[in-house]
Amino acid sequence: MFSFFSLTATQRSIPLQYVDGYRSSCKLHLAGNFNLIISAPHGGNVMTNDIPDRTPGGCRRAGSSCTWHYADNCLDGQRCATTTVQDYLSDEFAQNVAEELNNKYNLKPFVVIGKWHRKKVDFNREINEATLNHPEAINAHKSYHTNLKNAINKIEQQYGKGLLIDIHGQGVGNFTMVGYLLDSDLLNRDDLQSTLATTTSIEQLCVFNRNECIRGQNAFGTIMETNELGIAYPSKLHPKPGSGTFFEGGYITRNYISQINAIQTELPYDMRAGSYKRVNAIKYARTLFDYMTLNNLLLKT
Ligand SMILES: [Zn+2]
Repeated sequence: MFSFFSLTATQRSIPLQYVDGYRSSCKLHLAGNFNLIISAPHGGNVMTNDIPDRTPGGCRRAGSSCTWHYADNCLDGQRCATTTVQDYLSDEFAQNVAEELNNKYNLKPFVVIGKWHRKKVDFNREINEATLNHPEAINAHKSYHTNLKNAINKIEQQYGKGLLIDIHGQGVGNFTMVGYLLDSDLLNRDDLQSTLATTTSIEQLCVFNRNECIRGQNAFGTIMETNELGIAYPSKLHPKPGSGTFFEGGYITRNYISQINAIQTELPYDMRAGSYKRVNAIKYARTLFDYMTLNNLLLKT
């Protein structure tokens, strides 16, 4: 068994030491001492002048799917839209969560945080759409994902299981969307056992009953609400997201689940950028601690 002791004020941990990825496109904490990775791909605001904006998008020509190249004028096709909006202060929020885990529980997560603006590279898309095949954007994307993959490999080898939490921000409403790769149509069903044809991003934690792991007592959304982080979908009190926009998880949530459990959280503006953003990061850190503890997931070196 592992045991955890809170540090007193006089014993505060040394702050986590970050290193920069390729050309400071991302920042990394690689000296984790437990089986959690925090990822925040969309908070960056650095605009690199030598890389064209992704704003024009890709190109769809007759009979083929979208192709993605920064120098394609697409005169003989239709533009494919890219999303370039920044998840404002989601990077700072992720870093505050990591620091709170370090300070309060002496738990040092692995952390990968984007620094370049989403107009230049989208770390949460597959590499073509993410970079429009610009060589510098490709290097940045590889830097983010190579470091993520190394952390995942380390956790798999050392602990056998773990959690990758991908932190985003949304502007749809004042609630959190918890993404397990189940879209709102599936989450709106009365019995989630009827969704078994769709793989979730936390299969290892969903062995017995999907209603429990997605919207039961120990589900992530339920524990967020217990820790006074507002409304979360899905949770025990708010099991169904209804008919509005719902983000069920993107490339990062989807790409590594053969090795690690993954959850995407889309946080409302007020939680990450309002007056109580620091308190909210403390509550979010406690949510992660509680979630991993209650689901027998937390393992420490
Ligand atoms: Zn995002």
